[in-house]
Amino acid sequence: GRVDVVEELENVIAALELKAAQRRIRLRLETPESLPYVVGDEDQLTQVFQNLVSNAIKYTREDTDVTVTVALADGAAVGFAGLPTPAAAAAKDKRVVRSGTAMVSVSVRDRGDGIARTHLPRLTERFYRVDAARSRAMGGTGLGLAIVKHILNRHRGRLTIESEVGVGSAFTVYLPAVGEAQSPSPHRGEGRGEGEALRVLTK
Ligand code: ATP
Ligand code: MG
Repeated sequence: GRVDVVEELENVIAALELKAAQRRIRLRLETPESLPYVVGDEDQLTQVFQNLVSNAIKYTREDTDVTVTVALADGAAVGFAGLPTPAAAAAKDKRVVRSGTAMVSVSVRDRGDGIARTHLPRLTERFYRVDAARSRAMGGTGLGLAIVKHILNRHRGRLTIESEVGVGSAFTVYLPAVGEAQSPSPHRGEGRGEGEALRVLTK
């Protein structure tokens, strides 16, 4: 189906508000005025956002902001540099997306302790935790990011992780959009009727 990413994020944030407040963390949502839908399963994509935002709440410092930024991106931004290679086409690699593919990016930024570079390649493995003892004490199983990765693979999506020790982390999800690449329109809703691929989201 078609998923309204901003609506899902609003729900996820509302559900996690109390948990955030307990650590005096403010959840902020930044969205463009218009945005295409993404293709996918609403429950699964909600789970992706839920995992990333709860990680941010869990691992950031108290009294800080967690910022969720939604934007329109191009497939080229995540390494979709050209047409699928013959090998990828032959393997029917569903994750191969052409350059120029419109994508929606969702970036979750925190002000936590960050993650050392050496851990990054293994972070989405099942049960992998940077500080096992500390993570166990905080609860959870170490499956969150493995689930995120699994769901994104099924959606031809991508995850990038940027992190700086002592500064914080940014987990960014890229999902293929419905319709062609299009800049967020400053003319909200003009010329776009119901049922078209692009819809105006207000926030
Ligand atoms: P679960 O998600 O099952 O509750 P978890 O949060 O420990 O447990 P993941 O979400 O898979 O598991 O994260 C794996 C590990 O990556 C975490 O244990 C933590 O060490 C590290 N990590 C994840 N997100 C962040 C973050 N925003 N800042 C710092 N470290 C993080
Ligand atoms: Mg987690």
